[in-house]
Amino acid sequence: MNIFEQIESDVRTYSRSFPVVFKRAQGAQLMTEDGREFVDFLAGAGTLNYGHNHPVLKKALLSYIEQDGLTHGLDMYSCAKREFLQTFHDLILTPRGFSDYRVQFTGPTGTNAVEAALKLARKVTGRSEIISFTNGFHGVSGGALACTGNQHHRGGMGASLADVTRMPFDGYLGDGVDTTEYLDKTLSDPSSGIDHPAAVIVETIQGEGGLNAASYAWLRNLQAVCRKHDMLLIVDDIQSGCGRSGHFFSFEEAGIQPDIITLSKSLSGYGLPFAVTIFRESLDQWSPGEHNGTFRGNNHAFITAAAAFRHFWSDDTFAKAVRRKAEKLRSGLQALIQRHGARDLILKGRGLMSGIECPNGELAERVVRLAFSKGLVIETSGAHGQVVKCLVPLVITDEQIEFGLKVLDQAFNQALSELSQQAS
Ligand SMILES: *Cc1c(COP(=O)(O)O)cnc(C)c1O
Repeated sequence: MNIFEQIESDVRTYSRSFPVVFKRAQGAQLMTEDGREFVDFLAGAGTLNYGHNHPVLKKALLSYIEQDGLTHGLDMYSCAKREFLQTFHDLILTPRGFSDYRVQFTGPTGTNAVEAALKLARKVTGRSEIISFTNGFHGVSGGALACTGNQHHRGGMGASLADVTRMPFDGYLGDGVDTTEYLDKTLSDPSSGIDHPAAVIVETIQGEGGLNAASYAWLRNLQAVCRKHDMLLIVDDIQSGCGRSGHFFSFEEAGIQPDIITLSKSLSGYGLPFAVTIFRESLDQWSPGEHNGTFRGNNHAFITAAAAFRHFWSDDTFAKAVRRKAEKLRSGLQALIQRHGARDLILKGRGLMSGIECPNGELAERVVRLAFSKGLVIETSGAHGQVVKCLVPLVITDEQIEFGLKVLDQAFNQALSELSQQAS
């Protein structure tokens, strides 16, 4: 038995899908200790938008370490933090109309940023109720988990998950039903049984929930319902942000202005743990230290994040390239769907957060396992694990996209014929 299986908890997951030992990685390529190569269509579940070990970020980090720059600094001022705040303000927030938003450094994980957002919304409004959506995923600590829909994760809590009301996400009741009308109706009815919420938390593209992309109209309607009923709008952009949709924030094209935004996963750009919660200045009602955490100042992440902002977000060249690659990937997936059963397979998602929904989890599972045997690291998502999810690094090359599409094509071919043999 290897040391992983001998002493690592049974809670481990990805290592079960990819039972090899990885040693090196560069861009969208992973290498195992025994020299096998894989193309990475998982990208650290959306944490490696700029790929593994991007040379520009690596150089900035190595030079910072070489000069004995601070690694840990609680939440003290540091040159690295100044560099992060200045570039974030100048290159990301200001051009998108968020120049007066405040930045809170939370603990380093996404779930930490979500907890801070929920706590702030409850504190500012003095109300406890939060609205979240079917199939939403917001993390696995208490408050965030209460907003998460996934039964498997919720079951792990072993305690009540209170003060959250679930509403149907866009498309949940089929095309032609605008589910924000239901939300508006229940909030307008004093006998609906739903107390006045503090906030609504939403993903614009549900990552773990199966790549359900909210329409821009639905997002605008949701914002209007929030304004009408005096609730804060929290966009959890942890997975869909940092360029994945083809824009830095996933909601830019919808033209909405959330009150609170959470970012983590690809924020450091280098796979380092790092999260922020940003919000309107008027909501900054924290007293000093009221919400804290030892690891709020990952100075290495400040350095790589600032380098990523400068390298990728000084103009729109990168975002345009992401949108072009997304078109390439999505048209490839659409062609694959045409070849293998246009009736049963559905193109999901938006931008480079796209994939194929299968009629059941068995097919999707078989496809990703076969794909792995052919050199592609890729996972499923969705309530039944029914969506084959392409979460490629945004820096992926055209050749690597073509390779992944070819592997998926073969995997669908083989999986469908195996399953039909089984059935007959
Ligand atoms: C991953 C994720 C989280 C949780 O982040 P962790 O770093 O795993 O705690 C929260 N919200 C969304 C949308 C996510 O994708």
